[in-house]
Amino acid sequence: MQILGAVLESVGEPAPFAASRPLTVGPLELDEPGPGEILVRIETAGVCHSDLSVVDGSRARPTPMLLGHEAAGIVEAIGPGGSDVAVGDRVVMTFLPRCGRCDACASDGRLPCPAGSAANSAGALLRGGVRLHRDGQPVAHHLGVSAFASHAVVDRASVVRVDPDVPPDVAALLGCAVLTGGGAVVNAARPAPGQTVMVVGLGGVGLAAALVALALGHHVIGVDSLDAKLEHARACGVQETSTPEQLLDTGRTAPMVIEAAGHPRAFETAVLATAPGGRTVTVGLPSPDARAAISPLLLTAEARTIIGSYLGSAVPERDVPRYAQLWREGRLPVERLISARITLGEVNEAMDALADGRALRQLIHLDGDAGEQPEHERKDQHAHV
Ligand SMILES: [Zn+2]
Ligand SMILES: [Zn+2]
Repeated sequence: MQILGAVLESVGEPAPFAASRPLTVGPLELDEPGPGEILVRIETAGVCHSDLSVVDGSRARPTPMLLGHEAAGIVEAIGPGGSDVAVGDRVVMTFLPRCGRCDACASDGRLPCPAGSAANSAGALLRGGVRLHRDGQPVAHHLGVSAFASHAVVDRASVVRVDPDVPPDVAALLGCAVLTGGGAVVNAARPAPGQTVMVVGLGGVGLAAALVALALGHHVIGVDSLDAKLEHARACGVQETSTPEQLLDTGRTAPMVIEAAGHPRAFETAVLATAPGGRTVTVGLPSPDARAAISPLLLTAEARTIIGSYLGSAVPERDVPRYAQLWREGRLPVERLISARITLGEVNEAMDALADGRALRQLIHLDGDAGEQPEHERKDQHAHV
């Protein structure tokens, strides 16, 4: 079938992307879903730092690639052999498919599935190969999803079914920002009831970590160098906020510290702000060349632990319904992560807003046919958060 999608043509175009336009929106050919795969009509797709990391070259991926991995949509067709999801179901995309048969999948979410990771690096689906073509040439998938498009064919393992009362904007956020940030708290840090949780870096993932910690009754300290992000965190209920400089001046520490900025300086700040005996969880994705300086003596003499967490050490089938239930109970207002609603045609501008730190989550709304909304329905204000 013909679909509309936003394709990254080449890596490393200079910012501002509104001028260099590394992504082009146009028609592509999408294959039928194969065995174990499904066709999803995308309703909402969030613009995440992991998309920007491919655009700016800090995560090496093949091009051309149809970007987008944080999304929700409706199942439109099932591949040969059937599935346990049905046509009409709403599904959340998750960005690391699990084969379900290896040691990593058998343990829990701490170890990424090697087969899923290999497929993601190759820009392929879990069962191999691409389902996207343009002018007869293959187009790579992003993280098994490729959701900046009217439709996507994905492996069944790349989706989690959600109840229809969870609206597409909320559902999309559960698949990346909430799964990653929340998982850093509940799966990796595992704070005891009442323990203080500090979050360094208050972008989409960091704020999601803070919201999940608040939902579970923890006192939360938010740290960011941008005043607007600290203000927004306070408006979301974060009890204490600080810039990294203030934090080092005051010597404030916490037993559980989440680093969600993906920057080596933020990682150093997070380690220094971890109390003796405490845990530092790093969930941000820095460039492969980034190096941090920490004292090994801090680890031994103060009995600290540093934990790396990918995708929030999540088991999506287990974790997404838990977050959906917290949202349903009014305890996890994930809507606070949304800073703008945009159209597919504004995806290059959205990358600039994310790179500048102006945006939290910008949600692309797709209508399933043309992938663009009428002009009068556009809400393209970029809130300064
Ligand atoms: Zn993401
Ligand atoms: Zn596996």
